[in-house]
Amino acid sequence: MSALHATEGGVLSRLAVLVEAPQHSGLIGPLDYLADQPWPAGTLVRVPLGRRVVTGVVWGPGAEGEGCLPREQLKPITEALPDLPPLPAHWLQLVRFAAQYYQRALGEMAMMVLPPELRQIDAVQWGRRFKRLNKVLNPPPPKPPSKRRAAQAAAEAVPAADADHASEPAPVSAPASASGPLPGSADTAALAATPEQAQALAALLDDTVQPPPTSLLWGSTGSGKTEVYLQHAQAVLATGRQVLMMVPEINLTPQLEARVAERFAGRRIVSLHSGLTPAQRLQHWVMAHLGEADIVLGTRLAVFTPLPRLGLIVVDEEHDPSYKQQDGARYSARDLAVYRGHLEKVPVVLGSATPSLESWFNAQPVGQGGTGRYRLLPMPSRVGQGRMPKVRLIDMGTLPKPAPGEEAPALARPLLEAVAERIERGEQSLILLNRRGYAPVLHCTDCGWKSGCPHCSAWRVFHKADRTLRCHHCGFAERVPRACPDCGNQDIAPVGRGTERLEEQLAEALPGARVGRIDADVTRHKGALEEKLASVHAGEVDVLVGTQMVAKGHDFRRITLVAAANPDAALFASDFRAAERQFALLLQAAGRAGRDAAVAGHSEMWVQTWHPTHPLYDALRRYDFEAFAQAQLKERQAAGLPPYSHLAMLRAEAKTQGAAQTFLDQAAAAMEAAAAQLNDQGGGLLLYPAVPTAVQRVANVERAQMLIEAQQRPALLKLLQQATPAWLALAQQNRPNGLIRWAVDVDPLAI
Ligand code: ADP
Ligand code: ZN
Ligand code: ZN
Repeated sequence: MSALHATEGGVLSRLAVLVEAPQHSGLIGPLDYLADQPWPAGTLVRVPLGRRVVTGVVWGPGAEGEGCLPREQLKPITEALPDLPPLPAHWLQLVRFAAQYYQRALGEMAMMVLPPELRQIDAVQWGRRFKRLNKVLNPPPPKPPSKRRAAQAAAEAVPAADADHASEPAPVSAPASASGPLPGSADTAALAATPEQAQALAALLDDTVQPPPTSLLWGSTGSGKTEVYLQHAQAVLATGRQVLMMVPEINLTPQLEARVAERFAGRRIVSLHSGLTPAQRLQHWVMAHLGEADIVLGTRLAVFTPLPRLGLIVVDEEHDPSYKQQDGARYSARDLAVYRGHLEKVPVVLGSATPSLESWFNAQPVGQGGTGRYRLLPMPSRVGQGRMPKVRLIDMGTLPKPAPGEEAPALARPLLEAVAERIERGEQSLILLNRRGYAPVLHCTDCGWKSGCPHCSAWRVFHKADRTLRCHHCGFAERVPRACPDCGNQDIAPVGRGTERLEEQLAEALPGARVGRIDADVTRHKGALEEKLASVHAGEVDVLVGTQMVAKGHDFRRITLVAAANPDAALFASDFRAAERQFALLLQAAGRAGRDAAVAGHSEMWVQTWHPTHPLYDALRRYDFEAFAQAQLKERQAAGLPPYSHLAMLRAEAKTQGAAQTFLDQAAAAMEAAAAQLNDQGGGLLLYPAVPTAVQRVANVERAQMLIEAQQRPALLKLLQQATPAWLALAQQNRPNGLIRWAVDVDPLAI
């Protein structure tokens, strides 16, 4: 109400404030409000919007003059959140860039990347939380009861890598000041670097290269990339700066979290990911923003964390598709991390054994067909005596044919024998099959009925454990029918094989073996994945069946055989990135074997394939990522695909396929003139016709998409920007015809 009082006193300042308003509302820029104080840009405020009061971010002074709303029509800012420093200018710049690049409204972008709780609370609620946080940061002098409470609170604030740590007192005893690191914080000693690590570190720590470049740390699995991140981070922390470390999925990389916590036991580490409670997320975010946290370990959303002393950004497994947000503002956290590094002049380290072709391209010198934007730091060898397993391709075409009416076994004879040998020696095997459920479809042998989903253009998957037919697209599930719903035939048979069935078949084929499985179905409950992994580590499983989930990051010490049961589909997928993803997955899976020097010598990676001479497998056999990447890049160049061109996908969802395509056709027509004009200036824009998506109908909604290709990225962005107002209007017009949603995806991952 102070704002109203001030009105009597005289001039109120006019401020532009970002509030949550999706692109579709047509509200793209900030809104003007009146304020009794000239709150600086970045201040978090509460403002009236319609009948609600919402959180907003001060963007800057409002514009006066013609075309602006007269002051009388502006509402005053309700209040500012006290004791919360304004978001830094770099944060505002990052958000603006992301909004422009990914074609979203500025306010939507800004609000989306703030902790959800912060968007909802008012000044009083915020005050309470801030008080609580202060208690965590500055625990009162030791009095038995309050100390315990403070330790508990701190343990909550700093989630340790596993449950054991969570009950221990806070890893930090003294509060960090915003101006520097903890005094005398005792980081655990680093390992003596291998020559390759030393070389990479020398480059990373060489601060004569200014501004700090983006580096691509290309190291095979087990080459010690994590150790390089840790030592680099240690050097940065020692100068009093903060480190942002990003991982694709937090629960798939528990070991990294544990290693960071162990190495930097004296530092304040916070995690940021969607698995936290809203209260935890807010607390961690505020600790980062206040400069109280030294290390932020997070998933893609962490790229937007305000960090006043940022000194390093690490993006682990930079090729991982999880870095791209798949709804709303479809940003790539990897790409934004690189942008943020430039913006804040801090080094960015992208790490991977199988870099994305985009990053690889950027790390090749100009003279060799790349852009030379990144620095390539290779670490080809595994640490110690660990070696990559020997790759064995099984040519499925040469195997004896199964008898008529019989199914081929899940694993070919020689592979099954190799697994049995492992069991005898007390070693473990990992069988990769990227399809969960028992069978992808049920089929009536009499009338040809198949287990389709009534709501989607997809088959429903047979899950034997709970005897359901479940659609993996819309979630629709029903009990498996006893007989064919069409003809009453009792004999309906599973077609194909998922992990559930593979597990069953292996248990049958290997009597006495302990067969386990890890996939999204068995790890649905919190803690289930950790439990399963622990039993593998404890040696309670002989043969582990799993989806791509098990290929990532885990440091299995006793696995000496990894097999890909059925990896061929990716060779012929319509998506141009399918081969790249498959190569990364297989290499990552291979990296699960032979990690221990004692068993590395006889570790093997088996691949069951009908196409043993395919270049992908040939490159895999030799662990030659470079050859694979060069071959892929050649194909991409010939086909005019990224990284040699830039793509955007316009998607539409509607009640009918016709309505979705009509909107897209009109959207294309609306930008034709602009495209032609940009093409006169060398934009190289190409609009493809609208087509149904691969799975055309999901949950009774029809989907279509239209691809826009450009030689020049600026031309693509300009086109999208110019077209957006017309698209907004067209969307309104098409709504009565059944258009439900539309969105533009810049740099789409899958097409
Ligand atoms: P990556 O991240 O490349 O897969 P890691 O950093 O996990 O590799 O290293 C693989 C294994 O080697 C880990 O067990 C790690 O502790 C060990 N390691 C890494 N660097 C060294 C080193 N310099 N000396 C001894 N062991 C190391
Ligand atoms: Zn039938
Ligand atoms: Zn469905």
